[in-house]
Amino acid sequence: MKSISFRKIFFTLLKVVGFLTLAFIIFVIAFTVISQKNYEKRAQQAKNMPSKKYTVEELIPFDIVDSDEELVVLPYEDNRSGKYGRLTIYNMDYLDKAFGHTSVSREDIYKVIKNNTDISTRFKNLLIEYTDMVLDNYPDLDLRVFHHNLKTLKVVESDNDLMLKSVSNLSYGCYRIDENIIYVKENYDFKKQTWAYQVIMHEFGHCASFTNVSDKIRVDNADTKYSSTILNEALNSLFTIHLFDYNERDIAYQLQSNYIQVMIDCMDNYDYDDYMKYNNSYFLKQLDKFNGHNNYAWTMIRLMEAQYKDYHDDNYELEQKNFYPFYDYIADMYYRTHITNQMTKEQKRAVADQLVEKITFDVPEEYRIDTEEFYTYLETYTK
Ligand SMILES: [Zn+2]
Repeated sequence: MKSISFRKIFFTLLKVVGFLTLAFIIFVIAFTVISQKNYEKRAQQAKNMPSKKYTVEELIPFDIVDSDEELVVLPYEDNRSGKYGRLTIYNMDYLDKAFGHTSVSREDIYKVIKNNTDISTRFKNLLIEYTDMVLDNYPDLDLRVFHHNLKTLKVVESDNDLMLKSVSNLSYGCYRIDENIIYVKENYDFKKQTWAYQVIMHEFGHCASFTNVSDKIRVDNADTKYSSTILNEALNSLFTIHLFDYNERDIAYQLQSNYIQVMIDCMDNYDYDDYMKYNNSYFLKQLDKFNGHNNYAWTMIRLMEAQYKDYHDDNYELEQKNFYPFYDYIADMYYRTHITNQMTKEQKRAVADQLVEKITFDVPEEYRIDTEEFYTYLETYTK
């Protein structure tokens, strides 16, 4: 009996161990396969993940040619017949359509600033200073949009709110047209000649050129068809610093402002205050007229935008040669304006040096601007 029960226990144990071993082997195989599958899946996912770099075609999905299509500069668009449609005014000569035949004086603007109980004294003083700078420099500018916004404008000083309301977490200030509120960083000292001063004046500039008059009427100096935020920002930044009674080279949207400043300084048919009078497509039209093109400025501005995206998004890493047409475009404007046949080779070279200095002033290294192209173009130009 004893020996039988021993053998029984021995065989039972053997069976259990065998079963466990087999189970373990199956488990290990299954686990390996599953993990291998997971690994492949993850590798596959990684391939499709945004870590991939975008192609040139994705960032520059248009041809770099002068287009046959006419660039239409609309003074306004009236879509009020539609249920949710509205009247959008792009050209300030048509402001009567929004406000009737009224006009506003400097005193009218002072009055709405004083009567606005949502604005603290120090911002009231800054708003008065802005009004004076604008009207002292450009006495004929129509400030009805500014006047309208000032009735209900709020200025909020809060780092948190600014982060939430702004498109960029690097922002120092933003104007929300939907709320008619300017958000700025906390504890800023808005002294003349400081960055903070430029920021608040820049935001006032947005506030003077955009407004929702009602659900059905809007004034907008950007654009719907030729919409470029970066162009609008550069134009606003340049209008702002040209109000100052001191020279300011540290400009918001530095590279793009440098580009546009070089362009406007060459143009005899566009001034900094035109930003306050017309929308962005008017600027494009004037550029095309100045350069003898039909519709090429819009392509150039989109190339400028592509470069801005390339710099701000790690998914893009374009070669410099993609931007050569834009460098050539600016160089052509500058050389045509500043180079004469009487100049020596050295003098011409000095003009190119000036241009490169203006374009690259205080521009982040990461843009990797290939300045050689401006000299290569000089050779073509002076041939
Ligand atoms: Zn802005």
